[in-house]
Amino acid sequence: MSMHSRYPQLIIDLDKLRHNIEKIQLMCRDSGVELAGVIKGFTGLPKCVEQFERAGCSFIASSRIDQLENLKERGIQTPLMLIRIPMISEAVDIVGTVDISLNSEVSVLKELDRQAGLQDIKHKVILMIDLGDLREGFWGTDDLISAAVMVENELHNLELAGVGTNLGCYGSVAATVEKMEELAAAAEAVESVIGRELEIISGGGGNILGRIADKDMPARINQVRVGETLLLARDMEDLWGYDMSFMHRDVFTLRAEVIEVKTKPTYPVGEIAYDAFSHKCEYEDHGIRKRALLGVGRIDYGDITEIVPRVSGIEVIGASSDHTIIDIEDYDGELKVGDILEFDLIYSAMVYACSSNNVNKVYI
Ligand SMILES: *Cc1c(COP(=O)(O)O)cnc(C)c1O
Repeated sequence: MSMHSRYPQLIIDLDKLRHNIEKIQLMCRDSGVELAGVIKGFTGLPKCVEQFERAGCSFIASSRIDQLENLKERGIQTPLMLIRIPMISEAVDIVGTVDISLNSEVSVLKELDRQAGLQDIKHKVILMIDLGDLREGFWGTDDLISAAVMVENELHNLELAGVGTNLGCYGSVAATVEKMEELAAAAEAVESVIGRELEIISGGGGNILGRIADKDMPARINQVRVGETLLLARDMEDLWGYDMSFMHRDVFTLRAEVIEVKTKPTYPVGEIAYDAFSHKCEYEDHGIRKRALLGVGRIDYGDITEIVPRVSGIEVIGASSDHTIIDIEDYDGELKVGDILEFDLIYSAMVYACSSNNVNKVYI
């Protein structure tokens, strides 16, 4: 059997992906904001990254240095951005690979400077300020400013490109106009101390697009780092209520093959102990129902709540590493062994499926 027809498959529609990037890119341009396209959601698969390049993103951004290294080796032209705070142990690779990194630790900045000096490279940095989401960033403008002054005056192999923040990742803090104004104010405080204008004032993650959609982004913010909306276009609509009907929600499709169809009890028969993951589980008795088994499992997509059947009448009721059990009693059709079912993927399932060697990627 050729790889092309092997299941499970992840179908990736490259034209729809590029459409999504171009749409958001245009919206950003209208607000005077550049788009740093975040590729970690699909683990940097090169054919997908190509669409970001063709759409003209100003940066290709990832949390993972290995994804960026791979792109560099393939000769990518778009500047590369590392968006997870660097591991100090990776400093040598970072300055050799990426053009710009987001930073929040003085010791790491010093090491990046030292490595850049050894490699005779100028490495750009954006200093992150934590505005309350409580993940990365300097806490308070004073620490931000003193790091900025150090980079500007002492770390000659680094270039202080700008100031940034990240919202809506740990603390669920919304990227409101007020938060964006706080970011602009922090950047301006740095500018007044170093005596020059910063090149980049950068915000992320995805919910920052609300400011673009509402056209109320403070003028000084000139970069957004966005991933999910370009790939899935779910959160802006489902969580924030924006009309995103001009975007494709089906760039990624998981296709799995039916390997068993039977009518069975819904409540296990025997002494109930532990499941495949050593968990004690609760089971509800819904009587005897028709169900099917799919040749795809949690290894491929993570959690059953992160995959959504495309057709109605099908419910994912459980999974082990390599099997997924679906209830098909209410399915309006005849499902048989060998049939293929399609699923939408939610963010983490998309990441798992992209990174799994067991999932056959098919580009259309
Ligand atoms: C993941 C990430 C983003 C993009 O977030 P999305 O919600 O996928 O748009 C932006 N900035 C940083 C620092 C990130 O880690």
